[in-house]
Amino acid sequence: MSAFFADRRVWVASNETGIAMPPDSMKILVVEDEPGLQKALVDLLGGAGHAVTAVGDGESALRVGLQDDLDMVLLDLMLPRVDGIEVCRALRKVKPALPILMLTAKGAEEDKVLGLTVGADDYVTKPFGAQELLARVVALARRSQTSSARPEAIDSDGCHLDLGRCVARRNGAAIHLTQREVGILRWLYNHRLRAVSRAELLEEVWGVPGDLQTRTVDMTISNLRHKIEVDPARPRIVTTIKGIGYAWGRTE
Ligand code: CA
Repeated sequence: MSAFFADRRVWVASNETGIAMPPDSMKILVVEDEPGLQKALVDLLGGAGHAVTAVGDGESALRVGLQDDLDMVLLDLMLPRVDGIEVCRALRKVKPALPILMLTAKGAEEDKVLGLTVGADDYVTKPFGAQELLARVVALARRSQTSSARPEAIDSDGCHLDLGRCVARRNGAAIHLTQREVGILRWLYNHRLRAVSRAELLEEVWGVPGDLQTRTVDMTISNLRHKIEVDPARPRIVTTIKGIGYAWGRTE
């Protein structure tokens, strides 16, 4: 298993110190049609103490995902029969709080955006390192535990943000928010007297070193704005602070 990941590793997370305690054993569904990677994921997650079920196509993913009591889904996007986007959309409809981690191919930028739009909470780009994947799984589990333990709602600029239930409502229409988006909103709101840098969001919400992947922050916030802002080009809830990063609400 380690050889499999070591061969394909592009980046290994070095922030284990930032992750306090791994969550208890989780029931994880792995949806991956590539047999070698599927086995490596099962071994890796099983070795970390989780109960893992693996399937290799979208149809089985829906059958298992909708029936079983799961704590997390690792979902490949390119799947036989029903693709990962459809699986994600269907799971999200029935289980709004189930953490979903997408596995996307390198360079498939549109896939990531689409995946996040249909309700995935996070994504990992293939090829990924074993430690990176485990760190993402732990971080996602912690975010989802935190958000379910502390239900809270905020009203801002005509939008009702139910962070506990991962739902935004504007004019009665309900829009699903991902755990990541809820994490961003909560962090900005809890620190609303100041601006927050991209590096801080990466460290606090993503759980990765702040000098990596700043475009990921911008992309996620762009998606979030399309969900909650009246005019995403002129945001009034998650605002941009030039040269620094982002802030909650109007800053002048
Ligand atoms: Ca695939």
